[in-house]
Amino acid sequence: MKAQFHTRREFLKTSAIAAASLPFVGALTSYAQTAAPPRKIGFALAGLGSLSTHQIAPALQNTKFCKLTGIITGHPAKAERWKAQYNIPDKNIYNYDDMEKMADNPDIDVVYVVTPNGLHADHTIKAAKAGKHVLCEKPMEVSVEKCQQMIDECKIAGRQLAIGYRLHFEPNNLECVRLAREKKFGGLKIIEAGFGFSIGDPAQWRLKKDLAGGGPLMDVGIYALQATRYISGEEPILISAIATTTDPVKFKEVEESIMWQMKFPSDVVANCSSTYKIRGIDRFTAYAEDGWFGLEPAYDYTGIRGRRSDGEQIRFPAIDHFAAEMDDFAQCILENRPTKVPGEEGLRDIKIMMAIYEAAKTGKTVGLS
Ligand code: NAD
Repeated sequence: MKAQFHTRREFLKTSAIAAASLPFVGALTSYAQTAAPPRKIGFALAGLGSLSTHQIAPALQNTKFCKLTGIITGHPAKAERWKAQYNIPDKNIYNYDDMEKMADNPDIDVVYVVTPNGLHADHTIKAAKAGKHVLCEKPMEVSVEKCQQMIDECKIAGRQLAIGYRLHFEPNNLECVRLAREKKFGGLKIIEAGFGFSIGDPAQWRLKKDLAGGGPLMDVGIYALQATRYISGEEPILISAIATTTDPVKFKEVEESIMWQMKFPSDVVANCSSTYKIRGIDRFTAYAEDGWFGLEPAYDYTGIRGRRSDGEQIRFPAIDHFAAEMDDFAQCILENRPTKVPGEEGLRDIKIMMAIYEAAKTGKTVGLS
C-alpha cells in the first residue's frame, strides 16, 4: 500500500480552500496562520486531576497565545505542588468556593473546567459570574437543562463558552471531513464508529451516575457520536440502542457497554458502540458509494492515522490537540470572534446522548427534531 505523507503546508493550503465552506475546518486555519499575539490569554485550570496534570498543563507550555496563570483546586497540597512547578503566584490560587474572587484578577481571562462532568455547570457558571470566559471539558454536563443554564449564564455575563472538542483541530479528522464534504468517494452511505476501553478502579467518579451522567457513552462514546456528526455534516433524526451489563456490581449505576444506530436526514446511517469493558476499540470508517475512508486509532492524543479504499494512507503530522484547541479559543477572545465549538455544540451531543439512553431503556426508536 502506498504511503501518503502530506506536508503541513499542503494541508493548510487544502484546508484554507475548504475553510470558506467548512466551518469545522476554519478553526485550524486561523490557528495556523495568525501572527504573534498582542498579548497572551491567561488560563486558570479548575480541577487538577489526570487530564490537567498530564495533558493540559504541559500543552499550555506549547501554546502561542496562552499562558497558565492560575489554578482552582480543593486540595491545598496539590496547590503547593502546582505553585512550585508552574510558578503560580498565591493570589492566583483559588478553591471551588471562592471563585467569585477571580472577578478582581486581570491575570485570568479563561477558566478551563476539567472537573467531573456533573460539576461542569457549577464551575462554569461561577467562572462566568466572575467575568471569565470558559473552556469546558466534554461531555458538557449531565443534563440538557444544565447545559442550557451554562449557555444562558455565559451569555448574560457576555463571555464566550467553548467545549473541549480537541478533534475539531486535529488534521487527520479534518482530512476525513474534507473527503466527506468533497465526496471524494461519492455520496456517504454508512458510518461505523466506536470508542471504548477497559475501566479500572471501581470507586472512581466515572462509574457514579450523578458525577458522570452515564457510562462509556458520556465519556468516550461521545467521540464516536461526534465523528458521525462531523463526517456526515448532519444531525441524527432517528435513534435506536441497546445497553448491556455483564458485571452488575461494578456497573451498578452506569452502562457497561452500549451500541446505537442513527439515521440522518440524507439517509446516511451510523452504527456506533462504546464500552468500559474492552480495550482497543478506537475507530471510525465512512462508507460511500465508490469507496471508503477511516481512522484507527481515531481519537487518541497521538498516533491518529487512517486508510482509504484507493490504497492511500491518511497520516498528517501529529499536533498537540490541547494546545491547538486552547490557542484557537485564545484567538477567538483576542479577535472577538465566535468559537467553532460553542456551548450549543456540547448541548447538541447531550440531547442526542439522552435520546440514546431513552432508546436503550425503552427499546423503542426515538425521533429527534
Ligand atoms: P480526574 O478524576 O483525573 O480529575 C478530576 C479532578 O476534579 C480531580 O482533580 C478532582 O480532585 C477534582 N474534583 C473536584 N470535585 C470533585 C468531586 N466532587 N469528585 C471527584 N473529583 C473532584 O478526571 P479527568 O480524567 O481529569 O477528567 C476531568 C474531565 O475531563 C472530565 O469531564 C472528562 O470527561 C474530561 N476528559 C477529557 C478528555 C479529552 O480528551 N478531552 C480526556 C480525559 C478527560
